[in-house]
Amino acid sequence: MTGPLHPPGDTTRATAPASAAPTGSRLPHGLRGLAPLLALLALAMLVGLAGSLGYRYSYDTALARQAERGQVQLRLYTQALESELAHYDYVPGLLSLDERIAALLLRPDDAARAARANDYLSALNTRAGTRVIYVLDAHGKVLASSNWQRPDSYLGEALSFRPYFQAAMDGQLGRFYGVGTTRSESGYYLSAPLGERDNPVGVAVVKIGLEPLENRWQGADSQMLLTDENGVVILASDPSWKLAALRPLSPEARERLMRSLQYNRAPLPQLPLTLVRKLNNGNGSSSDELVRLRRGPPMLAQHAALPGTDWQLTLLTNTSQARVAALNTAALAGVLSAFVLLLGAAWNVRRRIVNERLAARAALEAANSELERKVADRTADLSTSNQRLQAEVAERIRAETVLRQAQDGLLQAGKLAAVGQMSTGIAHELNQPLAALRTISGNTGKFLERGDYATVRANLDTIIGLVERMGRITGALKSFARKSGNGRRQARLAEAVDNALFLLQTRVDAVQPALQRDVDPTLAVVCDPNRLEQVLVNLLGNALDALAGQPAPRIALHAHVAGAMVHLTVRDNGAGLSEEAFARLFEPFFTTKPAGQGLGLGLTLSAGILNENGGSLSAANHPDGGACFTLVLPLAPHDANPQDAKHAG
Ligand code: ADP
Repeated sequence: MTGPLHPPGDTTRATAPASAAPTGSRLPHGLRGLAPLLALLALAMLVGLAGSLGYRYSYDTALARQAERGQVQLRLYTQALESELAHYDYVPGLLSLDERIAALLLRPDDAARAARANDYLSALNTRAGTRVIYVLDAHGKVLASSNWQRPDSYLGEALSFRPYFQAAMDGQLGRFYGVGTTRSESGYYLSAPLGERDNPVGVAVVKIGLEPLENRWQGADSQMLLTDENGVVILASDPSWKLAALRPLSPEARERLMRSLQYNRAPLPQLPLTLVRKLNNGNGSSSDELVRLRRGPPMLAQHAALPGTDWQLTLLTNTSQARVAALNTAALAGVLSAFVLLLGAAWNVRRRIVNERLAARAALEAANSELERKVADRTADLSTSNQRLQAEVAERIRAETVLRQAQDGLLQAGKLAAVGQMSTGIAHELNQPLAALRTISGNTGKFLERGDYATVRANLDTIIGLVERMGRITGALKSFARKSGNGRRQARLAEAVDNALFLLQTRVDAVQPALQRDVDPTLAVVCDPNRLEQVLVNLLGNALDALAGQPAPRIALHAHVAGAMVHLTVRDNGAGLSEEAFARLFEPFFTTKPAGQGLGLGLTLSAGILNENGGSLSAANHPDGGACFTLVLPLAPHDANPQDAKHAG
């Protein structure tokens, strides 16, 4: 029989919300500032949830262990109580065997028999350690009692209303807890029929005090209750709980109990126990409950039925230890979950940092490869333009070579033109000695026939002189006409003037100018001698042309050194340069001379030769009339080899 307690509403269950607050990164802009607060809130909720789960689990586990211990304790108490009660089971039955009792039942009015029975019961009571032993007749009247001497003795009392009497008269063993009507002393009544079981002539009753058991319960850390078939506490480790109702009594039941005087008009108050919740500890017994006494801490209530009775033992144990353990576990779970969550957050932050680093590295690598690609492109461009430049340079060099060859060709052409101009004079120059040779050689033969050997010798000497002169003329012409480029870089100015005048001898002879020469014979300039001669032939030839038909023709040559340069002026007293000639002097093919006399290349080529050697050519009209050309060339170094400056002709 379990004591059904009314649950006062499940108020202790914590309702922890399981859903976390939204902590996602897609918060509206205005809420972004609240993100840390929300995260903190979510963390607190998760920690709270973990703590509550830990508390619940630990509390339930500790309660289950406590319930196991309680079951053992309960079993021990039940067995102790059972054996204590069984201890007296034999006493009522024993009386039916005794002849003094049987004799009294036959003659209840016999005072002597009654006295003997009383003595016997008194002795037996003392021996058995019971509270009272008495005998009732078939009508429930007390015939003999162990307490016959006491003023509050049961003798003569009518107790037919007692349930134990009824049970015994029905031929059964009666068991009953009740409070005595005379002394309000509670006790356990055991009854047995006397005589035949089917037709008893009386009833034997033993009353046992259960207080020694109660005393044994005291001092334990738990409360022990024994409730009878009515749910009324008949034994309790706390005496103040005695004769209180464990479960609510209906008004009818109260009425019935009042009438039966089982508890002798005790008020039977309701124990202020409320059910917190039923426990299912998995041991098959669903009778374990968590109860609360008034506003006190929850207690574990365990029940066990006492075999052979309708009674029930209830063990109430304090759950504060389980609660402390649960609180510790909750704190531990909270701390652990906070640690794990913080660890998770730290790991998340670390992962984000690592991801950012990887992204930065990827961006850097991309930028690097882009840079490398650009450098490669630029290098390719550069090498392409380099190749183009090299090709252009090669083309320029080739063009320059072609130009140089053309220039050389032009110079040679100019020179040959000069030679052509000179050819008439030279032919005339050579005709004279040739005619003289013919005449002299004819005369010499005649002198040889006459044997005038002295004249022959003289004529032969003259012939040798004439041939030498002709050789000099052709040699000079050959030397002038040959292509230059023998590598010599220096020339003596005076020698070049001499050679030029020699080449122009016929024309000089024809014009017969007054020649004024002021040229230091040691002066050497940087120039190929052949080229220098070509320049001088041009300048002197032009002067001779300008002087043709002039009265008192004059050519003045004057050389002087200015710094590192040598200046040579060639001045004539001709008509001078016309305005047009002055403007177009160095223009190729500009000439004022009639066809066949001038090509208009002389001054152009001369200026080119001088420029090439680091010099220059300039022209001016002299204030006193006539043209004046100035040739400028670098002075040759002093340590120059004189052989270099020597004319080859
Ligand atoms: P070319 O002698 O074949 O005409 P040049 O280049 O030597 O070619 O001379 C060009 C022109 O410069 C001449 O035709 C002439 O008109 C003028 N010129 C050159 N030298 C003199 C000079 N000494 N006096 C006057 N005119 C000159």
